[in-house]
Amino acid sequence: MRPVLTAAPDASVDVGVLGAGPAGCAAALGLHRLRYSVAILGRPRPAASEGLGERCVARLLEAGLERAAAAAGRSAPRIGVWAGTRSTRGRECPIDRTAFDEALALDLALAGLRLDRRAARAIAADAGGGWRIDTAQGSLRCRAILDARGRRSGGVERLGPRLVAWSERWRIAAGGGPGSAVVAIDDGWCWFARDANGILQRQFICAPRTRLDREQLRERFETATATLQEDAFSTQRAQFLGARATAAVMRRADAAPSPGRLRIGDAALALDPLAGHGVHEALQSARVGVAAIHSYLDGTDWTPIARFVRERSDEVWRRAVATAGTFYREQARSLPGAPFWAAAADHYERLSVDANARIDAGAGRFERRPVLNGERIELRPVWVSARWPRGVWRAAVTRASREVRDEHDEQS
Ligand SMILES: Cc1cc2nc3c(=O)[nH]c(=O)nc-3n(C[C@H](O)[C@H](O)[C@H](O)COP(=O)(O)OP(=O)(O)OC[C@H]3O[C@@H](n4cnc5c(N)ncnc54)[C@H](O)[C@@H]3O)c2cc1C
Repeated sequence: MRPVLTAAPDASVDVGVLGAGPAGCAAALGLHRLRYSVAILGRPRPAASEGLGERCVARLLEAGLERAAAAAGRSAPRIGVWAGTRSTRGRECPIDRTAFDEALALDLALAGLRLDRRAARAIAADAGGGWRIDTAQGSLRCRAILDARGRRSGGVERLGPRLVAWSERWRIAAGGGPGSAVVAIDDGWCWFARDANGILQRQFICAPRTRLDREQLRERFETATATLQEDAFSTQRAQFLGARATAAVMRRADAAPSPGRLRIGDAALALDPLAGHGVHEALQSARVGVAAIHSYLDGTDWTPIARFVRERSDEVWRRAVATAGTFYREQARSLPGAPFWAAAADHYERLSVDANARIDAGAGRFERRPVLNGERIELRPVWVSARWPRGVWRAAVTRASREVRDEHDEQS
């Protein structure tokens, strides 16, 4: 371990982090705080708006990403029109991802970590042990690697329904304040977000076979705004800034492909955007990634580390596909003639059956299993059951109710 702060081309460090989104930045900072030498490489992402929940902002603060948390600002109301019901209870912080990612880089800089804007071209096992990351300007050697390159990282094992997100960005008159809305329509769903700086993003998520020209896309947004009955997301008198289409498929890769090499964030498990907490999950998996690499570099055997990381990923996947199946099925029931909803619900339900088939439904038992204990992954006796296949390690009794509450989050 050396207190190296930045890495020049052809340098050698303890950990190489690829990708400077929330997962990569949170992990790089966590490892830097544990006094490992860290190099973080991250090329910028295209402009986009996203919504962060309040618990996501709390996770950013816990990770020491204070400027990023400040960039998220205060939460604003979110309207939902889903399965024939209108809800105004939701809240989220609409963020500009470019400003948010710059704030993440600033958090790193203030901690003494410089973000290297080079793109990683290839990862290879190094002849002398450890790993080599190749860039156009030289190679970086490291003992361990955290791959946080988002959805573009390889190793995909499972895919959700094919979805594409069509996004438009507009500059609107300031005033009105931030807010967002999600609206289901016949062949997909729309998300509108207005941030505090007068940027409006509108997004339509649908099956890729829905070929849309600008006029057809405009019709979808108009249908959704008419359902919403809100002027706040209107683009009248607004300036068009640009449009793009991106893949929005839920996907899962092997999170622990080889000793000393992990995937975190979307690189390991990218959620359906409908979940609205991809950034939160990226931060949670970064925390596990830090503990896993810390344990590995400290001499812990790789097998329990990889097992913990994979089982956690299994569990997040299982819950996420079940939740997505429920949401899409609800909507399919309220729009029985719309094939988009039934097809997506069917796909998620098949994934859910497949994920649950691999759980041992027998009686509970104690087993020695890897658990996350603070900054390390360690073997401990845990109670394993069909409900908690990764095992419950600690349980707390809440005074108010005297009921036993699983502290399962301790492990996640
Ligand atoms: C349409 C859509 C809408 C979404 N909306 C929301 C939302 O409202 N709320 C929410 O919480 N989540 C949302 N998400 C999910 C969210 O974007 C991700 O879950 C989150 O950004 C994952 O963080 P990450 O750090 O793992 O990856 P990313 O944020 O994707 O970061 C990966 C980084 O790696 C960089 N990179 C890629 N390849 C290389 C390379 N070879 N070398 C160097 N750098 C590289 C990329 O440029 C990027 O900066 C949405 C996703 C989609 C597709």
